[in-house]
Amino acid sequence: MRYFAAMLVAFWGAVAPSMTGPDQPSLAGYARDASQVERQWEGKFQAIPSPAKQRAYMQRLSARPHHVGSPYDQDNAEWILARFKEWGFDAHIESFDVLFPTPKTRVVEMIAPVKFIAKLEEPGVAVDPTSSQKSEQLPTYNAYSIDGDVTAPLVFVNYGLPKDYEELDRLGISVKGAIVIAKYGNSWRGVKPKVAAEHGAIGCLIYSDPRDDGYFEDDVFPAGPMRNPNGVQRGSVMDFASSNPGDPLTPGMGATADAKRLPLKEAKSITKIPVLPISYGDAQPLLSTLKGPIAPAEWRGALAIAYRVGPGPAKVHLRVESSWDIKKVNDVIAKIPGTSASDEWIIRGNHHDAWVNGAADPVSGQVALLEEARSFGELLKQGWKPRRTIIYCAWDGEEPMLLGSTEWAEEHADELRRHAAVYLNTDGNGRGFLEMGGSHSLEQFINGVARGIEDPESNLTVWQRRQLYDIAHAKTPEERKEVRDRKDLRISALGSGTDYTAFLDHLGLATLDLAYIGEDNDGIYHSIYDDFYWFTHFSDTNFLFGRALSQTVGTAVLRLADAEVLPFDFTDQVDTVEKYTKELEKLVTDKQNEIRERNLELEEGVFKATYDPRHPTVAPPPEAVPPFINFAPLHNANQVLARAAERYSKALALAEPKLGQVDDQSLEKLNQRLMQSERALTNPQGLPRRAWYKHLLYAPGVYTGYAVKTVPAVREGIEQKRYSEAEEEVSRVAKALEGEASVIESAAAQLEQLGR
Ligand SMILES: [Zn+2]
Repeated sequence: MRYFAAMLVAFWGAVAPSMTGPDQPSLAGYARDASQVERQWEGKFQAIPSPAKQRAYMQRLSARPHHVGSPYDQDNAEWILARFKEWGFDAHIESFDVLFPTPKTRVVEMIAPVKFIAKLEEPGVAVDPTSSQKSEQLPTYNAYSIDGDVTAPLVFVNYGLPKDYEELDRLGISVKGAIVIAKYGNSWRGVKPKVAAEHGAIGCLIYSDPRDDGYFEDDVFPAGPMRNPNGVQRGSVMDFASSNPGDPLTPGMGATADAKRLPLKEAKSITKIPVLPISYGDAQPLLSTLKGPIAPAEWRGALAIAYRVGPGPAKVHLRVESSWDIKKVNDVIAKIPGTSASDEWIIRGNHHDAWVNGAADPVSGQVALLEEARSFGELLKQGWKPRRTIIYCAWDGEEPMLLGSTEWAEEHADELRRHAAVYLNTDGNGRGFLEMGGSHSLEQFINGVARGIEDPESNLTVWQRRQLYDIAHAKTPEERKEVRDRKDLRISALGSGTDYTAFLDHLGLATLDLAYIGEDNDGIYHSIYDDFYWFTHFSDTNFLFGRALSQTVGTAVLRLADAEVLPFDFTDQVDTVEKYTKELEKLVTDKQNEIRERNLELEEGVFKATYDPRHPTVAPPPEAVPPFINFAPLHNANQVLARAAERYSKALALAEPKLGQVDDQSLEKLNQRLMQSERALTNPQGLPRRAWYKHLLYAPGVYTGYAVKTVPAVREGIEQKRYSEAEEEVSRVAKALEGEASVIESAAAQLEQLGR
């Protein structure tokens, strides 16, 4: 593959277009001539993005705090709009009116056995000029925490996830009526107050332990990249995964000025108990005052204290009050109209709002997006015109919970279902290895893009470097072998936590999410220290990975926009569904074995025999062994899909040489079918208890938030012991796969006609 890369560079760099090599593999979905022309445009495109320009944009966009509703948020939107227009896009700002609470009162104090008042402040540091812009910074808080004023004993709950409460049960400790303190990490933050409330807690503190993103990892800011004792992670705690992201008052519809709004008390996604985030400087006095059992070994962090669970004697007073205002979010929407397929849209987005200055999150991704847009502007001047319509989106309000992208997707749902082919997302960038996530119908496609991008730090392509990284980090010999032998690197399935959510999970658009990450550690996430000074000292300091991201995503957009036939492939998806099905079968078997074993130990008296009166524990209750679940419908449906996928691949390969002679109407009909293939994986009724989520293969976990649950209704049914529901859901997923197979069959049949 190295040879291939070197060849591309030589060809693009210096050789006249007429010398198009016959040894260039033809791009999927392109006739041979069209493929050669496309490669020339891609070569020209990739030469344009500039690290220096990205640096200048970052300095401008992160110069002041720019959260939703702030003056600089609006200012940035207008600046981005002006750039899109300057580069030849047809651009406008589309605004929505959304509920965005900002803090009015924040109190955390220990009233017994000693008095302590938490600072809840991040001080500026002298070397970092923007860290002292106090008057414009949002205070540290968790957005969409319910207002509340509670006083109660404190309990330490590790990361505050369901299994941590099982452990607490074993220690005989209840959080009923208590305030819990949880570590940040290992889940979406909003899961912590959700689970705490489900167990009867009345308040929740979340702190950043130095073991996770502080001095345990590296020096703290400003000497190093990690979180200092005063650094606090702001962030949304909206319970989006069990209801929906976006504006809590207008679920499922665009939050336009005249939209019908729910009263605040009916908004489902607001937390049940008050929550505040705190620094480890503020957490240490509280944690060090706890008595009760020593925390399990894996729970302990890097503070110089004995981590104990409580409850108390630390008694904490927590008071949170927000201004529940409606604020404007300003999405910047910019189009390059397509030529012969203007009704097919390729959509590309990254948010522009931040919690504070947000150089890493989101500006490092936004500047890559802007350089793609400027490069397309240059190509337009050189005579390039995309076949499909390209839509660039700079979203507002991502941080509170995907407000700008969700409201836009909901407002334009019907058009998007008809016209949108693919959504490509980024949300920040770092240094390291290409992270590819998305719909598996695009796995082959994005692998192909990655094979043509040069890595900034090695003389490899980003694909080769990622493959070698995966070999180094494989967990088993089988996994290693697969990385070596499989044609494509596996892309990860998408959960949530960024702007692709409405497009993929609600509308069923084929989606990609991309970033370079893995070489730098950071502890400034959602703090005032995520700024230009930090980024240019500790992250992608020369913006070479910023350029690589522009090249990667921009090439993907270009290739998708110009292809005669949308470059979907379904064979990797078949392989992925087979893998998921095996995982689900194993999940049932593992659960059965685990419960059988525990029941046996109860009978044998293991728990009684090992009871230590000085460290009392409570034996778990016996449980019914989970029933077997019939996965045959999934296997059968996937076989039907496999046949369709094979037939389609063959038909496409045969038709490709003739694509140049196919009329636009026939291509439109074919591409319309292909666009419906991902849609076929959705169900209008949505997932059980969360109907907004329509995709049956991918969803954020109700108890993970960021992390995906694949085949979510089946997987969560098993995990949450709703076995008969899980079995019913197997059939629903199987039907969706069969539906997708028939869409693919009809596309294959049409291609066979064209290929004749
Ligand atoms: Zn972000």
